[in-house]
Amino acid sequence: MNYFSTRDHQHIVSAAQAIACGLAPDGGLFVPETLPEVSAQQLQALCGMTYQQRAVEIMRPFLSEFSDDELSHFTAAAYGDQFDDAAVAPLRRLDDTTAFLELWHGPTCAFKDMALQILPYLLTASLKKCGEQRQVCILVATSGDTGKAALQGFADVPGTKILVFYPYSGVSEIQRLQMVTQTGSNVAVSAVRGNFDDAQTGVKTLFSDVSLREELAARGYFLSSANSINWGRVLPQIVYYVSAYCDLVTAEQITMGEKVDVCVPTGNFGNILAAYYARCMGVPIRRLVCASNANNVLTDFLTTGTYDRNRPFYQTASPSMDILISSNLERLLYLLSGSDEAVRGYMAQLAETGRYTVSEEIKNAIQSVFACGFCDDAGTEAMIGAEYKRSGYLLDTHTAVAYRVAEQFRRADGSGAPMIVASTASPFKFCASVLHALGCEELQSGTAIIGQLAEASGRPAPAPLAGLAGKQVRFGEVVDKGAMRAVVTEFLQ
Ligand SMILES: *Cc1c(COP(=O)(O)O)cnc(C)c1O
Repeated sequence: MNYFSTRDHQHIVSAAQAIACGLAPDGGLFVPETLPEVSAQQLQALCGMTYQQRAVEIMRPFLSEFSDDELSHFTAAAYGDQFDDAAVAPLRRLDDTTAFLELWHGPTCAFKDMALQILPYLLTASLKKCGEQRQVCILVATSGDTGKAALQGFADVPGTKILVFYPYSGVSEIQRLQMVTQTGSNVAVSAVRGNFDDAQTGVKTLFSDVSLREELAARGYFLSSANSINWGRVLPQIVYYVSAYCDLVTAEQITMGEKVDVCVPTGNFGNILAAYYARCMGVPIRRLVCASNANNVLTDFLTTGTYDRNRPFYQTASPSMDILISSNLERLLYLLSGSDEAVRGYMAQLAETGRYTVSEEIKNAIQSVFACGFCDDAGTEAMIGAEYKRSGYLLDTHTAVAYRVAEQFRRADGSGAPMIVASTASPFKFCASVLHALGCEELQSGTAIIGQLAEASGRPAPAPLAGLAGKQVRFGEVVDKGAMRAVVTEFLQ
């Protein structure tokens, strides 16, 4: 399978090259040339397999240069006992028509682990296949969860270095502590004054900085990305949607071929894009519901066809969705338009004016698949409190946004179709908001708040979070956006 850039059809690369580079040199994202189909028969066969085996089957056609041995090794190592549930991505069925797809049983307790546990294997193998001699340095901009998951995935991986930028005061206290206490000899973390978009734009600027590239090449380094602009992030995420469908069939909640809806709490549009790929490949998914918080740029886009980032940026209780520039939308625009020229045009407008309007055809195509909605912080907390009271199930803030929007959608839709809600983080990553939602007013500080939530909810904290207490802070640096380049050159001395 070959890949090309969303901004240039002619720029064709192998899977290994696409993963090694991350971003295409023209600023576009790599997309597969064709999409393999998953037949009902294959889905049936997948039902009898483990998560690791399903991952091999689904990723194989996308990664033709990788042997079955390689893929089996990667999936076994990536989805091993660092996950605290043998099912890796278990479905929790809430009632006859609702199931949460729990994607946070990995080592950093957010769904980012699903891709970032396997990406280091895919990336280092890709570099070898490309004959790359230089060391790779992974640059990450994070809204909170990607940073830790990437650090965890790449810590002490030979031939790699990793540097994470996060928005100062734009992440939860637990998220911050997870990152600044990261161990490993090849890692570094820096806070940036500004919001996530500032950090992400800063990292994108570094990637396109030719003089920086030359300077680093002379020192034997090159830069790559672990953000969801990298195809190696999106691909492993397709797996769990296919897997969830199989689990619903196996549990006899649906019959093979029956359509389900999927609701995803969305920021950079990576997770929901993976669900869309699963749908395009033939998984019987009817509607995709895109859930946003108060930063509802996607709700407006999916409703009107106009993307407009010129709006206030809100810091919310679901910080991993505090994003106004959803990078992966570019892949959707390409899939729907089939035109690199159209994508180039939209992205140029976005860069120049912060807005673009898609054609009527694209808008209609989007609306035939995607539904959307948003939920503010008050609604988020109300949802957490209500669901805990009703069923005892404890939602994190991001999942609560999705569940709330899913319920809104169902009331309006009325079809009663089964719904899978992507559950993207452990509630223990967002203790303050969750405790508040449970009615606790006096919150403890630092890592003590983890025990407080465990006590208040009667749920055990995941071991990696409970273990944060007493860990040494290694990275206290805070810089201005303009100083990010200097942080990179210093790190790669
Ligand atoms: C990253 C993240 C999201 C948003 O996912 P995207 O792929 O960026 O749309 C939602 N919830 C949590 C907990 C996250 O970490």
